[in-house]
Amino acid sequence: MTRRDVIAGVGGLLATPALSSRVGAADGDADVVVIGAGAGGLAAAADLRAAGLSVVLIESRDRVGGRVWTTEVAGRPFDAGAAYVHFRERNPWTAIARDLGVALQEHRGFGQGRAYDGATPLDADALQARADGRRRLWRLFEAFDTRGRDTSLGGLAEGEGSYARLAAVRYGQQAIGEEPDAISVVDLLSQWDGGDETVPGGYGRLVEASAAGLQVSLSTPATVVRWDGAGVAVETPRGVVRAARAVVTLPVGVLAAGRVRFVPDLPGETLAAIEDLRPGALTKVALALDGERFGLPSPSDLYETRSGFVFELFPFGRDLALATIGGMPARDLVRLGEVGAVAAATDRLADMIGGAVRSHVIGGRLADWWSDPHALGSYSVARPGRFAARATLARPVGDRLHFAGEATGGGGSMTVGGATLAGRAAAAAILAALRPGSATAR
Ligand SMILES: Cc1cc2nc3c(=O)[nH]c(=O)nc-3n(C[C@H](O)[C@H](O)[C@H](O)COP(=O)(O)OP(=O)(O)OC[C@H]3O[C@@H](n4cnc5c(N)ncnc54)[C@H](O)[C@@H]3O)c2cc1C
Repeated sequence: MTRRDVIAGVGGLLATPALSSRVGAADGDADVVVIGAGAGGLAAAADLRAAGLSVVLIESRDRVGGRVWTTEVAGRPFDAGAAYVHFRERNPWTAIARDLGVALQEHRGFGQGRAYDGATPLDADALQARADGRRRLWRLFEAFDTRGRDTSLGGLAEGEGSYARLAAVRYGQQAIGEEPDAISVVDLLSQWDGGDETVPGGYGRLVEASAAGLQVSLSTPATVVRWDGAGVAVETPRGVVRAARAVVTLPVGVLAAGRVRFVPDLPGETLAAIEDLRPGALTKVALALDGERFGLPSPSDLYETRSGFVFELFPFGRDLALATIGGMPARDLVRLGEVGAVAAATDRLADMIGGAVRSHVIGGRLADWWSDPHALGSYSVARPGRFAARATLARPVGDRLHFAGEATGGGGSMTVGGATLAGRAAAAAILAALRPGSATAR
């Protein structure tokens, strides 16, 4: 369970790369149309173009990167989405960063952490009880016999002590962004583990830098995908793109909401897989601080166990408090809007380190992926018993629609690395079909 660890160290931001001609008419023909310029779509488009195919890559936002995005609050940069390069040993971003000369920083585990219940610091007994609960859950998790059965993370802790159940809630919300009863244990067990790296210059900036030179039609949402004719016709407000095949990297939340119409409808098994992979609601609130350190080491982590907020203070030495929250508390939080969410995060921080913090908060941002119409959730979560949905969604539809992205990332699902690998796999499948005998670049 290394997916929720803490950033340590200091680093500078990457310069924003000069992006080549980003906006152009989407109208026209191509061998392949790629929908979505997040990690999955960028990887698919790059591989297909490197193999000599013509590709149109369309993106609804006015930027690339999707759910990997380095932005700022009061001039302080932070990653609003993905921040950790998980399972670094097999994550393609380890090599991409090296090739681009972008520094990664090993994440060495939890920094100076303190836990509170509201304003009350947890005493040694309470901390021990929670640690025992986490250990118990972890043992149950590792010992779970996956042959022919599944349960939810919540189900795993059922009948256990209250601290094991609490550990399931906290792990579900903070690492997966979802409530434990909605998370498949078999799917979790199939996810790769390994060391984590952080990107001092910003994970979003790294992804953006990797896309320099790749032509993308920004602000060009797909509205309809027709696959009733010989190939695919993707309608956008800027024209229609016709291609032999499409790589569809739309987030599962966007697919489930029907924001893009497929004509004819997608097959039942694909629709069911989309339903079975509904995303969680991992959410961040970034508070800009004025330089005050409150007597705390840099970096520090504060856990407000009642609300479910986890705060990283002074990541990379910056004057920032980055709060993360997931599951139902996150859905409640985003309903407050940015002003309300920033106030709520400030209140929880004030509970823990004193009301004086209010006068040191000079700005706030809410990274609300749950309501963001281009994402509609943080990342896919396989429902209990539905772990096969990832493989089902990855199966090409009608020999022309290739769904790819984090949801189909196999052992790397839910991550940037998994999205990239899924994009590459879709490209390889298309090349194998359109150019039998040709090997892909990777
Ligand atoms: C808060 C948060 C923290 C996370 N932390 C980590 C982490 O530390 N490490 C990690 O590896 N992963 C993390 N993730 C997950 C990671 O960000 C995603 O798994 C990954 O970025 C998904 O890439 P993708 O290409 O599949 O999807 P996306 O990045 O969402 O790309 C899909 C693209 O499709 C676009 N799109 C949407 N609708 C349309 C349309 N109609 N037409 C055209 N384009 C459209 C979107 O704008 C988007 O750019 C985190 C995610 C969140 C939200």
